[in-house]
Amino acid sequence: MVKSKSKPTETKSRAGRPAGTPNSEQPVVLVEAPRCRRCGCTKLRHVKKIKQSDRPGRIGGTDKRFTKTTWTRRRCDSCNQQQIIITREYEPSAWND
Ligand SMILES: [Zn+2]
Repeated sequence: MVKSKSKPTETKSRAGRPAGTPNSEQPVVLVEAPRCRRCGCTKLRHVKKIKQSDRPGRIGGTDKRFTKTTWTRRRCDSCNQQQIIITREYEPSAWND
């Protein structure tokens, strides 16, 4: 039995993104965990975001890269002190070598 090819149903081309391409959806890595400078506690309550920088760089003296720096005001859950905490994140797709 021969099927008629008259119907222009679908023209599937095999072009396009192959599955599993290492592209944009890479996880953002938290480089430095926020930590209280007074008691070392990591339970910090977010109070207010101060500023953010998208300038990439390396943490002084190490090979740890970061692509984003965020300054936030936080209050420590243990000693109740408010302080400015610097959080650095590394997003592989944002890094240009
Ligand atoms: Zn503390």
